[in-house]
Amino acid sequence: MADRDGVIWYDGKLVEWRSATTHVLTHTLHYGMGVFEGVRAYNTPQGTAIFRLQAHTDRLFDSAHIMGMKIPFTKDEINEATRAAVRENNLETAYIRPMVFYGSEAMGLRATGLKTQVIVGAWHWGAYMGEEALQKGIKVRTSSFTRHHVNISMTRAKANGNYINSMLALQEAISGGADEAMLLDPEGYVAEGSGENIFLVKNGVVYTPEVTSCLNGITRDTILTLAAELGIQVVEKRITRDEVYIADEAFFTGTAAEVTPIREVDGRQIGIGSRGPVTEKLQKAYFDLVTGQTDAHPEWRTLVK
Ligand code: PMP
Repeated sequence: MADRDGVIWYDGKLVEWRSATTHVLTHTLHYGMGVFEGVRAYNTPQGTAIFRLQAHTDRLFDSAHIMGMKIPFTKDEINEATRAAVRENNLETAYIRPMVFYGSEAMGLRATGLKTQVIVGAWHWGAYMGEEALQKGIKVRTSSFTRHHVNISMTRAKANGNYINSMLALQEAISGGADEAMLLDPEGYVAEGSGENIFLVKNGVVYTPEVTSCLNGITRDTILTLAAELGIQVVEKRITRDEVYIADEAFFTGTAAEVTPIREVDGRQIGIGSRGPVTEKLQKAYFDLVTGQTDAHPEWRTLVK
């Protein structure tokens, strides 16, 4: 990732990609206290557009507020930085990574005397789990690692350190022959994937867990909006793992994962064992929206130029 051409927005300036470095005693590297976003930009008929930029910037600031970090830039400045990171790397489509971290001025958990720094990187990143996954679906395993408890780590924050849990779950799923993990909350109800929210479909109704212990996903919110517009009923409720086993369809949502169908959970086929019709309808609506194939929600597409 580090050895390539391009520029990274770093504390207010665009710096050469290979020079966008930090010291080994950077505080966030040691304790994981930092917050970040994952954003995508798509090629639309009007040009490259960032999808739901304001929602991502708002969540970045919310995450920082939860963690007690003060971002030394305004939301408008971060929006402009995000546009610049895509534009100045001449990207038609992009995955964008804004990140807020503490500098290397001091060590220790008191975190005093530290500079809060911000970077925004952008690069081309295709389908997170491959094109085939978007069509045929993926294999999922229930994780032996529980998703964070709401009062141990803050589940509304997209915080760097939270992702140790996601990585443990994903490593376990992959070593067990699956593509992705399904994490349960501390009470044993379905929470989410390692980096995705989860949905299931039963008798034409779409179900998804409430955002108690999962991340308040922006793709999740987009799917809730699209489902309402398509006249599909959505219910947010507690879901058990066996409800997923007997669902007609299931899928993950996320900025990186987009809308990825789930074809198998814990060795059990889900529905027809491939992308189901409701998933396909919502997935198509999602891709039409992000790529501007529809005029709906122009406020969700911010042009980079
Ligand atoms: N849950 C977790 C743990 C995630 O990391 C992500 C990705 N940000 C999501 C859900 C989906 O969120 P979004 O749709 O905003 O990308």
